[in-house]
This record gives sequence, C-alpha cells and structure tokens, in this order.
Amino acid sequence: MIDQYSFDDPTKRYQRIAPPEQHQPEPGLDADLEPRADLGEHSYRGTGRLLGRKALVTGADSGIGAATALAFGREGADVALSYLPAEQEDAERIIALIEAAGGKAIGIPGDISDPEFCRRLVHEAVHGLDGLDLLVNNAGKQVYSERLEDLSDEQFEQTYRTNVFAMFWITKAALPHLGPGSTIINTTSIQAYNPSPILVDYASTKAAINAFTKSLAQQLAERGIRVNAVAPGPIWTPLQVSDGQPQEKIVAFGQATPFGRAGQPAELAPAYVFLASAESSYVSGETLNVNGGSPTP
Ligand code: NAD
Ligand code: MG
Repeated sequence: MIDQYSFDDPTKRYQRIAPPEQHQPEPGLDADLEPRADLGEHSYRGTGRLLGRKALVTGADSGIGAATALAFGREGADVALSYLPAEQEDAERIIALIEAAGGKAIGIPGDISDPEFCRRLVHEAVHGLDGLDLLVNNAGKQVYSERLEDLSDEQFEQTYRTNVFAMFWITKAALPHLGPGSTIINTTSIQAYNPSPILVDYASTKAAINAFTKSLAQQLAERGIRVNAVAPGPIWTPLQVSDGQPQEKIVAFGQATPFGRAGQPAELAPAYVFLASAESSYVSGETLNVNGGSPTP
C-alpha cells in the first residue's frame, strides 16, 4: 500500500494538476473541488504517535486542516473540529473518518472572527474532549485584490480578524488548559516571505503569524509548551477557488515551484504530526516550510 512512508520521486508523487477554471463562494467546499484534493483518506497510516492526546484544529473540515485532523485521529488523538456552519458537509466526512479510526471527534461550527465564539469554541472543545493538549490555529481567509484602492476596509479587517485576531483569542482561551508537553501549531504561509502583489492583506497576516509564533514560543518555553508554525506553499484546497486566486491562475496552480506541481493536503499532515508529537521535543519557535522546494529565509 502507498502511504506517507513510501519512497518515491517527490516531483511525481502526485500528477501535475491542471484544474479547470472554477469558482466557489467563500468558504468553498472540498466536496465541490475539481479534481478532488487528497486528504490522506486512503494513504495516511497512523503509528500511535499521538495516543491519548486531545486536539483542537480550526479549519478542520477541508484542505490542510482536514488532512491534519484526520492524521491526528489516526495517530490516536481525540479531535475537536472548528469550521463554519456552511461547511457541515465537509466536516461530517472528516468526523466519520476519525471515528472509523477509533477516535473521538466533535464538530463545533461557528465564526472565529467573533471573539465570543472563540472563547466558546475552546470551552466546548475542553469539555467535549475532557482536556486539551494540542491546538492547531489553521483557519484562514484569503481573497485576492488587484488594487489596494479596491481592497475594502471590511475585507482588510476580516482577513486580520480571521487569520490573526482569532489565533490570539483562541490561544489565550486555551492556555489555562494547556499543561507541560502541550503544543501549539499555527499555519502561516510562503506568502509571509514571498508575498504576491494581489494578497497585501493576506500576506501581511501570515508574516504576523510567524512573528506571533516565535515570540510566544519564547514566552511559553518555561511552561513546557512548544509553539511552532507550518508554512505551506501552493496546496490544492477550496481556499484557492473561492477567490484566493484569479480563476486564470488556477489552471497552472503550483507549477512555478521547483517541484513543478501543487502540493496536496495529505503532504502537509506529517509536518503537523511531527510538531504535535514528542518527536519534536526540542523544537520550538520553528517554521517548517512545506512548499515543493522554494527557498525561504
Ligand atoms: P481551506 O479552505 O480548506 O481551509 C480554510 C478553513 O478556514 C475553512 O475550511 C474554514 O473552515 C476556515 N475559516 C475561514 N474563515 C473562518 C471563520 N470566519 N470562522 C471559522 N472558520 C473559518 O483551505 P486551506 O488552504 O487548507 O487553508 C488552511 C490554512 O492554510 C489557512 O490558514 C491558509 O491561509 C493556509 N495556507 C494555505 C495555502 C494553500 O495554498 N492552500 C498556502 C499557504 C497557507
Ligand atoms: Mg472548508
């Protein structure tokens, strides 16, 4: 069976996809993505690396968050999944896959751009899982805008609320529950270092996430809590077809990377598992780049 441990040519592990132009309203569904993304449903093999851990993953219904939630479940963790109410269909699929792996999975739909909801999310996760030791701040908003004059005040604020403020609100609410050995993982992006001209708001939130991660990692070190980030390159997810990119760019998505292809969410999950597990016990304040070979600082 092909799984994440199979040795093959990374440039050919997945076909170079040339997706048809397509558009979905925000937040977009994995169920409607063409071609479907690989979340590791048929390939991720758990080896007990997160046995007994209790995880909260935001944006866990689709894309990178879904692949991560599924991998956590297969590694033996119980998982609380955060997503928007419109994504119930995608979330139920991931919940069923985690349950099939023998883990507990609870869905907590709601809008994390609301600080009240962020606090309720953590409360429900802690009560539903009977504790918390892994937090993955992965939810994100990316909507391109060609000209700064067309980037509305509302969008600028909403991108920051979703990508940066929610990470602060959720982490702050989670901290009283996180003991030594707990880990926090934030999803940043290659956009933090190599920003596109049409993603001024989004790219700058991702730079903020990197600095937030490295600052907090130092602050929480003495409590035995590790804080790290994962910086994906171009990954085939619903974010990209719900105004994350202009449609004409979708057809060659990811082909400018050294590997010549887009990444799949399944290829991100092992990075989150590594940072969540005790294997990374001496790693904190790190940004792990998973981007098909593009240079980073
Ligand atoms: P995705 O659309 O599958 O996941 C994003 C999720 O964010 C959505 O599923 C949704 O549940 C959640 N979300 C957005 N706004 C929300 C809100 N107001 N309240 C609650 N949840 C909300 O796409 P993805 O690409 O897997 O994105 C996951 C993370 O990866 C994001 O932080 C994104 O910025 C980052 N990222 C993606 C890429 C890429 O190429 N796909 C590259 C670098 C970084
Ligand atoms: Mg989604």
